[in-house]
Amino acid sequence: MSARGKIVVLSGSGLSAESGLPTFRDSAGLWNKYSWVELASPEGWARQPEVVLAFYNERRAKAWKAEPNAAHRAIARLETGYEVVVVTQNVDALHERAGSTNVLHVHGELAYARGTGRARKRYKIDDAPIELGQKCEEGTQLRPDIVWFGEETQHMEEAREHVATADKVLVVGTSLTVHPAAGLVDSARPDAERALVSLEMDEIPRGYEYLNGKATQRVPPLVTRWLEEQAS
Ligand code: NAD
Repeated sequence: MSARGKIVVLSGSGLSAESGLPTFRDSAGLWNKYSWVELASPEGWARQPEVVLAFYNERRAKAWKAEPNAAHRAIARLETGYEVVVVTQNVDALHERAGSTNVLHVHGELAYARGTGRARKRYKIDDAPIELGQKCEEGTQLRPDIVWFGEETQHMEEAREHVATADKVLVVGTSLTVHPAAGLVDSARPDAERALVSLEMDEIPRGYEYLNGKATQRVPPLVTRWLEEQAS
């Protein structure tokens, strides 16, 4: 255990909702002509790559213009008192842009592209669209570096290890319905302080205090309390 205390933050799309980025359910509504499986799966990509690219090009452009909100900034502030690891399902870069320095993206990142072959080299594209016909160095079509349904989640072992060694765990803005990332909450130590911030939850995982409300309203006071605790 670190002398400074260790906090792991597990975040999902609800955290970026107040930055103007639709959550999983809301964005499905925007693209209601297509199911998420068509937009975010290897099968959908094989059938209609142009639709998948258009969907992600739009999301990338929107995410690039969005600004971190008060909850992202509060999470970044935790680093003034704690060792902090952010494990996010989000594919935007709002944690990093708010100042968090240790972020694991388990579902990939919009700002990167990679080929469709075996090579795993990633290319930083920031807000640039990916076009059909655009190839990687190995000559295969570029695709978003996003983990689609049926693909392997990234950094999971490392993330699990961090959760298991945390003194405090903050879960924010995730419905805990997309697995295996959702299962990370169960790796926390029984004596770790655990809090969950969300607008609505079907089920609260055992051991977590439910702080019902918007991330920008519930996260900053919690961060202030945790920083005061560490200072005293
Ligand atoms: P989800 O849509 O299943 O759940 C969002 C949760 O956030 C819900 O429980 C909702 O009540 C809560 N919420 C909504 N607004 C909130 C607010 N202002 N404050 C606090 N809580 C709020 O999303 P998920 O659990 O993250 O899982 C979905 C998948 O969608 C992930 O794979 C993720 O990669 C992807 N996704 C990411 C983004 C992004 O990067 N910004 C956006 C859409 C979807």
